[in-house]
Amino acid sequence: TLADRFDRLVERYADRPLVMTEARDWSYSEVSKASESVAAGLLALGIRRREHVAMIMANYPEYIIIRLALARIGAVAVPLNFGLKADENAYLLRQSDSVCLITMDRYRDQDYLAQLDEIAPGWRSGSQDGLPRLREVVVLPTGTDSEAVPRTYADVVELAASVPPEDVWQRQQESAFPDEVADILFTSGTTSRPKGAMLTHDMLWRSAMSTAYGRGYEDGWRLFVPIPLYHVFGYVEGLLGAMIVGGAIIPQVQFDPAQALRLMAGKQATEALFVPTILLTLLKQPELDSMDMPALRSLFCASAPAPVWLWEKAKDVFGLEEVHTGYGMTEVSAATVETRPGDPVQVVSSRVGAVLPGGPGGLEEFGGANTQYKTVDPMTGEDLPEGAEGELACRGNTVTRGYYAMPIETAEVIDKDGWLRTGDLGRIHPDGLIELTGRSKDLYKLNGENIIPREIEDMLCTHEAVEQAFVVGVPDERSGEIGVAFIVPRAGATVDPEDLRGYVGERLSRHKVPHSVLFLSPEELPTTTSGKVQKFRLRERAVSSLG
Ligand code: ATP
Ligand code: MG
Repeated sequence: TLADRFDRLVERYADRPLVMTEARDWSYSEVSKASESVAAGLLALGIRRREHVAMIMANYPEYIIIRLALARIGAVAVPLNFGLKADENAYLLRQSDSVCLITMDRYRDQDYLAQLDEIAPGWRSGSQDGLPRLREVVVLPTGTDSEAVPRTYADVVELAASVPPEDVWQRQQESAFPDEVADILFTSGTTSRPKGAMLTHDMLWRSAMSTAYGRGYEDGWRLFVPIPLYHVFGYVEGLLGAMIVGGAIIPQVQFDPAQALRLMAGKQATEALFVPTILLTLLKQPELDSMDMPALRSLFCASAPAPVWLWEKAKDVFGLEEVHTGYGMTEVSAATVETRPGDPVQVVSSRVGAVLPGGPGGLEEFGGANTQYKTVDPMTGEDLPEGAEGELACRGNTVTRGYYAMPIETAEVIDKDGWLRTGDLGRIHPDGLIELTGRSKDLYKLNGENIIPREIEDMLCTHEAVEQAFVVGVPDERSGEIGVAFIVPRAGATVDPEDLRGYVGERLSRHKVPHSVLFLSPEELPTTTSGKVQKFRLRERAVSSLG
């Protein structure tokens, strides 16, 4: 299990830092001891193997401690997006059958205790109205008086004293099945309601192994992680990946560009994991020019498309030899496709990489992933000839067995041979590199013709006044659907919508020219907490502004 793996690493790297924060660093053995206490405390609370424990927690060291504690007792972690509203959390807590919730009290403008008051009014006195399966709520107070909550994180640690250490050890022995579910990880909810992918200890570890070795993480690397740990990207490629090479993560609780740069420089990050929205903000920091980060070896940006200029600029501004990207999804335990050490920026900006090494003679034998990719017809699901553009499908030993308690949705995406329909469009080039061309849900049909917004967005981003571009299809009586472009202009730049339409018209065929162009500031972009732009919200906005 993840706990056994971790214990072996603790033996080897005991005094090395595992988590580095501005306040203090935590060594492998400190995290290990703390997680043993929390494991014992959770046992004392009556949490048992295979029970589901939800977490609403930003990137605090406690997140990692709790996560490992759950692995120790064989409980299933259900990390939730901490940016959600009360009704969304109520849905996820019920849907996931969570018996315990470990939550922070607040985060930015979110007040989770008030949310609980709303969805389970009796929670403070132990009544389960509203959330019938939920037996325990544990609060990590960050601003609230700890007297005001029935049970705090510190109380759980204190409870640990009542459990003999042999009991925790005993539980760990009992829970030692790598093919049991370790996490139910929710998808980002970019295209619809989040779905909880069941991922086993084995899948998560294999995925992290492939990332660490495929990307060439080196001994003791320090990864700056401003992306949330509840999401598969930060968790597997950040936390687990760093652990495999005896490295550390430098997590950020809340993205703040000035602090990000301070942490990266001060803690000597060797690698940083970004999503495009975060990287964009960081590159706008004026102090970046005068900063020196000699330890930084490369940076990695993924999870949504990034314009070409962003890669060039990132490489330049940080003075890097290499930048990297990858492609993956929650359902495959993070990325299984990534660019490789040495890949030039031209590859990174046009391709999402090659399948991580695995399979016969590859990493599979000592614990990596063995993913295969193919393309299928997005409508019929039939296999397409090699090199053709279509929907990407994949299978392998890191692909989820399904969404928790959602058999219909599971059957819709995984076929009887184990192939998972990704919902992403792309093609596999003869050199093995994969090109992503868009998401099938973003496709729209103009006068019967399929239009892939990504191509238009990429073209718009080559215009000097455009920082970011998003194209969505909206219903139209005459044409079926028409394209609407949302543009975030570069700072100080102004541009006429007609000029932008003309710009596209000169370079792409006529039917790809957006019908209308709307402008947004970066703050107006609707994003998920993990920083992805939610096109379905842009679509709603387009519909209402077109009247
Ligand atoms: P939902 O499935 O709930 O709508 P989601 O698909 O965004 O949300 P995730 O599992 O977090 O949830 O993200 C996986 C998706 O992210 C992929 O299917 C793909 O569309 C997108 N993605 C991942 N990496 C990249 C990348 N490098 N470039 C472009 N898109 C990417
Ligand atoms: Mg998805």
